[in-house]
Amino acid sequence: MEPIQQLQAHLVDVIRLSQIGAVLGWDQQTMMPPGGAEARAEHLATISKVTHEMFVDDKTGRLLEEAERAAQGMDGDSFEAALVRVVRHDYDLETKLPTALVEAIARETARAHEVWVKAREASDFAAFAPTLERIYNLMRQKAEALGYEDRPYDALLDQFEPGMKTAHVAEVFAGLRDELVPFVQQVFDRLDAVDHSMLHLHYDVDKQAAFGLDVIRKLGYDFERGRQDKAVHPFTTNFSINDVRITTRYLPNFLPSALFSSVHEAGHALYEQGSDQRLEGTPLAGGTSLGVHESQSRLWENLVGRGKPFWQHFYPQLQQTFPEQLGGVDLAAFYRAINFVSRSLIRVEADEVTYNLHIMLRFEMENDLLEGKLAFRDAPDAWNARMQQYLGVTPPSDREGILQDVHWSSGLVGYFPTYALGTLLSVQYWDKALADVPSIPDDIAAGNFAPLLDWLRTNIHVHGRKYLPAELTQRVTGEPLQYRSFMRYLRAKYSEIYGL
Ligand code: ZN
Repeated sequence: MEPIQQLQAHLVDVIRLSQIGAVLGWDQQTMMPPGGAEARAEHLATISKVTHEMFVDDKTGRLLEEAERAAQGMDGDSFEAALVRVVRHDYDLETKLPTALVEAIARETARAHEVWVKAREASDFAAFAPTLERIYNLMRQKAEALGYEDRPYDALLDQFEPGMKTAHVAEVFAGLRDELVPFVQQVFDRLDAVDHSMLHLHYDVDKQAAFGLDVIRKLGYDFERGRQDKAVHPFTTNFSINDVRITTRYLPNFLPSALFSSVHEAGHALYEQGSDQRLEGTPLAGGTSLGVHESQSRLWENLVGRGKPFWQHFYPQLQQTFPEQLGGVDLAAFYRAINFVSRSLIRVEADEVTYNLHIMLRFEMENDLLEGKLAFRDAPDAWNARMQQYLGVTPPSDREGILQDVHWSSGLVGYFPTYALGTLLSVQYWDKALADVPSIPDDIAAGNFAPLLDWLRTNIHVHGRKYLPAELTQRVTGEPLQYRSFMRYLRAKYSEIYGL
């Protein structure tokens, strides 16, 4: 066998084991009774230990080196070259970290979760600060172990967005911030212009579920190769290209929650279901980065699901489903309502206009904390000052400020930017899709989502992890990541909605 095929064959069991772990994780969040929690933690620990040991085995390193030699001079676009690059990326992530550091991070973050939950409940940052400082110390060690050229944050960011550099993110965010902050202020001055009270009426959850399932089926989510269940925090997971699960949750008094979270997760799932079948069982199946993954979920959620053509098609059906609540609300009023902007302090509740400001704040704080430019005791003040500067609001408590997200307590530093990168990419990809296939808005208004899905499949989904995110974006759109398309989209859409 050729060295690259040997490497691929060697990794089959590693991939199967991690897929088995994903089944257990899916069950944990959807079906498992509370009594199963302890045993499940043990199952998952064993699976991840065995998977890790098999992957970091000397044999993997040896086969990888042989495969790298064999891949030299190969076409960089080839399956083989991509496979070797992806395995090298994953292998370095798993092997460069000393076992003692991995264990220290696992121990600290396991303990940190409870500390964070209590501190958040009590809105007491001081109770969390020493833990946070220890986590950031570990993150610094992690960055050193993984290695970086420019800034320690590069190493952490690379885990989630391979190849992306801190300086690039900072440059894009700085340009975006300068345009977005004044625009947000303009919208805030007109918040009363949109009535969204009808969204907060009572909506029967069974009817919500039936409508939502019908929507995602029409978008192209394949129920032969997936299913939707309920979970406290909606997520997508997969055990194969041909088994991609999504979850949602229903709020009886807020219609958009389940609907748009279903469309969002279906967007992630369409990406996973769309990998070339030849990638099945190889490390190349699935999304190339969290940012590109988020571009797919947000494209379907925001560009499609919160757009006019989508509701030209679906609104009559929604009105028939909820005649009491929506019978007297015309399409234009409903469209404005589902796009309402608010001065939310909470990231996960933020609309598409303000969302990226929440992310920029976290990105800047993470860098300052990591590089020792900000003392931990001063972090809440720094957070609140940025909220005031970007959104014109100061959180009344740390609970609604610096303590709101679970990420830092889990050791996820470098993760937040991918949410904003995905949002920017979603508009770049959408613009290109419309330039290539101008009928897409009319097709959507007619309930035909296939032309858009086909474009995404051909240009993005089939490639799986074959291209680095920056390569993929350059290939698809002919340009690098940028914020101008996003700002143009926001200005056009929200100037109309808010009468600016
Ligand atoms: Zn998402």
